[in-house]
Amino acid sequence: MGIIVQKFGGTSVGSIKNIKNIAKQLKLFYKKKQKLIVVVSAMSGETNRLLILAKKLYNEQQVNNIYNNRELDILISTGEQITMSLLSMALNMLGVKSKSYTGAQLSIFTDSVYTKARIQHIDTSIINKDINNNILVIVAGFQGIDKYGNITTLGRGGSDTTATALASAIKADECQIYTDVSGVYTTDPRLCNKSSLISYITVEEMLELSSLGSKVLQTRSVEFAVKTNIPLRVLSIFDNNPGTLIIKKRSILENIIEKQVISGITYNCKEAKTTVFVTDVVPGACYKFLKKLKEYNIESNIQNKKKIQKKFVITFTISKDYYKTTKMYNILQEYVCNNLGGKLSCDNKIVIISIVGVGINSHKYIAKKILSNLEKTGIILILVSTSEIKLSIIINENYTALAVKVLHTAFNLDINSIKEEI
Ligand code: ADP
Ligand code: ASP
Ligand code: MG
Repeated sequence: MGIIVQKFGGTSVGSIKNIKNIAKQLKLFYKKKQKLIVVVSAMSGETNRLLILAKKLYNEQQVNNIYNNRELDILISTGEQITMSLLSMALNMLGVKSKSYTGAQLSIFTDSVYTKARIQHIDTSIINKDINNNILVIVAGFQGIDKYGNITTLGRGGSDTTATALASAIKADECQIYTDVSGVYTTDPRLCNKSSLISYITVEEMLELSSLGSKVLQTRSVEFAVKTNIPLRVLSIFDNNPGTLIIKKRSILENIIEKQVISGITYNCKEAKTTVFVTDVVPGACYKFLKKLKEYNIESNIQNKKKIQKKFVITFTISKDYYKTTKMYNILQEYVCNNLGGKLSCDNKIVIISIVGVGINSHKYIAKKILSNLEKTGIILILVSTSEIKLSIIINENYTALAVKVLHTAFNLDINSIKEEI
């Protein structure tokens, strides 16, 4: 029998009662001699609580490079350490031999980019030794250690990535991500009660859903699973459904279900629209602005670039967090004015809604359908951008739920309107 990696998210380990229930479930697998590696998140709300402590310490200042990110990572990695030890104790009480490890203890090596480190290598010797001694290994998700011995964290939702990286390193049979919903849905089931559970989804589509705002899986976790061909499943501990299986090839998918073009709709309320207006007198203005953002560790996504008469208009989206106080906005505005002879404007009351599906760009009716449905509901479109696999719109954030629901219905994604032939 091969090894299975199971990851339990924040809600699943959100109380002592839930932790005890997981321990009971794990005991059943253990008795059947199923080899398991378990990855845990922090209890729900714990990572936010730790982040708020740091924020209070810095008096809510938002200029990003003011934070001591090395210390921040040490602080926020502790959430997972609490859960791993509690689960291991619960298992011991049930007579299951288990041991918990932090990322550092287990030699999960990452680069040194604090708060969003990438896993580079995992030493599997401890795991293999424990498995051979019939010890159930519990691992703290979301964290690792760099080559200098510093603790690092993997970005929000990073326990998913710990799970798939471990599954890849030990060549597991399957990586199972247990969460608080029954799998991957056509849209966030908490926002739209007509969303439908997807039984199978391709890696490409899952990557797109994740990177465009669906937080059910961290994007990097999907990347790990793809690279090493590990079957990845999202499911819930609160029911017995098989959940959603993420599969590599669309051809496999076509054999099992009658697939429609649109696989899902995501929304991202965390980004602010930032527009830079410059004349083409300044060579490389766009590049210079991006370089400035990089100096402040600000990640950005270019949404649109237009030349109107002699002016360039470049629209980016960047995290709203940077604009929570006006400080960062003022710094960027001053830079654009003094160095690029241009203007900066920002709209932080927006949401990016994305419709995802393979080959979406070649179906012209999709854009038309979106526009006509938004028009009917009186929602004003601020911007549209497309790629081969998604179409994103920017609208006012107050209309998030309305727009998602309207488009979900328009594209026949509502529960009972999807036909599956298995
Ligand atoms: P965990 O703590 O288990 O890691 P997360 O909160 O990170 O859980 O992710 C699960 C949540 O993702 C769900 O509660 C749901 O609200 C949200 N979500 C957003 N989009 C989707 C989607 N398309 N399918 C399923 N869940 C989604
Ligand atoms: N506890 C971390 C977070 O809240 C990691 C995770 O839950 O996956 O982002
Ligand atoms: Mg998560």
